[in-house]
Order: sequence, then structure tokens, then C-alpha cells
Amino acid sequence: MIKKILIANRGEIALRILRACKDLGISTVAVHSTADADAMYVRLADESVCVGPPSPRESYLNIPAIISAACITGADAIHPGFGFLSENATFAHMVEEHGLTFIGPKAEHIAMMGDKIMAKKTVARLGLPTVPGSEGAVTRLEKAIATADEIGYPVLIKAAGGGGGRGMKVAHSKDEFVQAYETARREAGISFGNDRVYLEKYLANPRHIEFQVIVDQFGNAVHLGERDCSLQRRNQKVWEEAPSTVLTPEFRDKFGRKIAKSMSELGYLGVGTLEFLYENGELFFIEMNTRIQVEHPITEMISGVDLIREQILVAAGEKLSFTQDDIIFRGHAIECRINAENSDTFMPSAGKISNYHCPGGPGVRVDSALFDGCKIPPYYDSLIAKLIIYARNREQCLARLRRALNEYVIEGVDTLIPLHLRLANNEDVIKAHFDIHFLERIAEKEN
Ligand code: ADP
Repeated sequence: MIKKILIANRGEIALRILRACKDLGISTVAVHSTADADAMYVRLADESVCVGPPSPRESYLNIPAIISAACITGADAIHPGFGFLSENATFAHMVEEHGLTFIGPKAEHIAMMGDKIMAKKTVARLGLPTVPGSEGAVTRLEKAIATADEIGYPVLIKAAGGGGGRGMKVAHSKDEFVQAYETARREAGISFGNDRVYLEKYLANPRHIEFQVIVDQFGNAVHLGERDCSLQRRNQKVWEEAPSTVLTPEFRDKFGRKIAKSMSELGYLGVGTLEFLYENGELFFIEMNTRIQVEHPITEMISGVDLIREQILVAAGEKLSFTQDDIIFRGHAIECRINAENSDTFMPSAGKISNYHCPGGPGVRVDSALFDGCKIPPYYDSLIAKLIIYARNREQCLARLRRALNEYVIEGVDTLIPLHLRLANNEDVIKAHFDIHFLERIAEKEN
């Protein structure tokens, strides 16, 4: 059994993991940069270690410092959270080499899914539908042009090593394609250290729908339904819902079981999310995230499963405590990502929180590490809080969401609360009529 976990992350997710550890009676070690010395998760951890200066490369991405912190404090496992080292196969491997448990999948599966070309090939082999596109990387311009013609324009050029909504270029015609292809390769080489790119049909009006799975070391795999993450800005999610209004219970059950079976066949371990685009009644795989995701709480709300608790338990070698038939989805949940950003320009905003009031009442959960007087440093991701709302149905969920957003006070930095209020009152959002381009369209209309 795991007795002490080092949490290799910061902010709200570090606190979320810490809470799961407390519930399980597991001791915690927080790591932090000098910029986060006063953070809430550091104060609440049993022990803490400063692993470096503010720059992520020297602190939260500093593998020797983090592994040393685990060894010095006698931790027996490391939870990477999301972002930072969570999808770094070398890190996962090194953690295991040091006799520690990595709370995540095997390094080989992180590497496999981290390469988006390999990920697509793997899930296609397992019998899941993928977005039509090139078979593997396109390394020569002439071949790339011929493949783009076959796929049909518009075509999306994607970096094999891409992530976080970066490394994608759309081409609407052959003329556009040549330049976009060269630029995409060059940028991918610089940003991801890997200039392999592949082509995909650019879907005009899809929804982003992803399935949550969890697998134990005995090959028991369960799916926990889907999340609709279509409301995005710059290909990054800002609002997520579960369940999606477009899937029927029968479709969900059949498709979800198929995914779970595939992951069991692959020998996958732990939590994972398979992301799809949904268009005209069909789902097409785009990528897999081999870690806990930002939006996991909405799945927890409708399934009753504490995903981080279960993630820790399966990493510790325990058998899943539930089967597929035990999972019953109830109600509706929405998560709003409260980023420290301007609601119109999406410019990040750092500073000191001068006034903080958290909403409450039935159906309201806030996952955040904010408190009055805390500092939002400029060095990290802008996500500072997640407002998660639960109700028996979508209509009541939206009503509670509006109530909670109106109660929420965060002063000192700009936040996305005004944007979420606009969305929660938008006629199309209320009717659940949206696709991945919805936010861009309303931004254009307003300007
Ligand atoms: P990342 O790893 O950078 O998040 P994804 O492959 O998950 O990249 O894609 C991120 C988002 O980009 C998707 O949610 C969707 O909005 C858009 N996208 C990706 N592939 C396509 C496609 N083939 N057609 C249209 N939009 C796409």
C-alpha cells in the first residue's frame, strides 16, 4: 500500500490530489517553486520541499529535483497531476527506476499516446474510428499535396508532438497548403523538437466529445461516460458538460464499452481520456490523454466515482472496486474554467487577490487554491479555479450556474467569470446548440 505521495504539481490540482490523499489516510509531500512558497496546497501538505526558482523548467519540470525530493522525504509514490511532467514517459520511467510508484500508466503507453500519429494507428488497430487523414507522417511535400487532394479540402496539418491546442494549421486550398505545410513543420520542430506532421480532414462543425476510462492491473476496464468540451477558445476548453446532449444512453453504453475493452486489450493502466470529434452522428478519435484531466470533476458528479482516489488505488495495485454495471449516470454537470484572463482578449492577468468570495449552496463545487490575499504568479497556466455545478437536469444546472457565477467574487485580477455569465445566458448555449467554433463566432459578432 502507498503511505506517502509526493505531488509533482501546483495550484488547484495539487490541492485536489492532496484532498484525495487525506481521504485515503495517505501522507503528502508538496513541491513548490520559490514563487509558490505561500500557496494553499503547500500550507495544507504534511511536508513540503522547494524544488527551484519560478521558471517551470527549473522547478516543476526539474526531474532530478523532484525525484530527490521524493527520496529525501521517503515518499513511495509520485502523482504528476496534469500538465508539467504528467505525460513525460522518461519521467515515469525514472520514477519507477528509483523504486517509486508512478501514479499513471506505464511509460510505454505514455510514449505511444504522446505521439499523435502512433496514437491514431493504435486505436485504429483496436477497432475505434479515427478522423480520416494521412496514414502516418507526411514527410515530403509532393506526397503531402497528393494526400491532401485525396482527403479533400479543408485539410488540417497537425504536429505529431503537438498539444494544448498548439501545432495545428488549416489549409482551405492547394495554394494555402504548400505554405501551411512548410510553416507547420518548421514550427513543430522548434516547439516540440519533432517536425513530423500528419494530415486530417478538417471537420467543419464538430463537437468535442471525450470518454473517460479507468483500468486496473488485472485488466478490468470501466468507462465513465463522456464529456462535451465543445466550448473552446483557441482550441482550448473553457466550459465542459457531462453528459453530452447529443449521445443517447444506448450509444454511450455501446461505444463506451468498446473503448473500455480496447484499453483492456492494450494493457493500459490507470485513468485515461480518449478524445473524439462528433459530426453527423459519428465519433472520430483525435487523441488520448494518459493522465487525469482538468475537467474530471463533472464525471465525478454524474457517476459518483472519486476519480483521483480510484487512480491512486489502481496505481497501488488494487482491483477496481466497481464494474461497468455498477456505474449509473445521474443528473447533469457543468464545469467553467475560471482562468486569470481578460474575458474579451484572453490576455493573462497576474497579481494579488484583493477580495475573494466563493459561491456555495446546493450543487456547487469549487476546486481552487485561491484565498484572500494570495498571489497569482505570472509564470504558470492561467487556470485558477474550476466552478463545477451539479443538478438533476441541464436546465436546473444552468440556473444554479448563473446563481453561482453571480455570487463569485474574485478581485485583483481579470477572470473569465464575465465570459461564463455571457455563455450561461446565451440562447444557443441554453438550447445546447454549439460546436467547437461557437466561441469564435460569438466573439466575432460582438466585435
Ligand atoms: P491538442 O493535443 O493540442 O489539444 P487535439 O488533437 O486534441 O490537440 O485538438 C484540439 C482541438 O482542435 C479539438 O478539440 C478541436 O477543437 C480541434 N481539432 C482537432 N482536430 C480537428 C479536425 N480534424 N477538424 C476540426 N477541428 C479539429
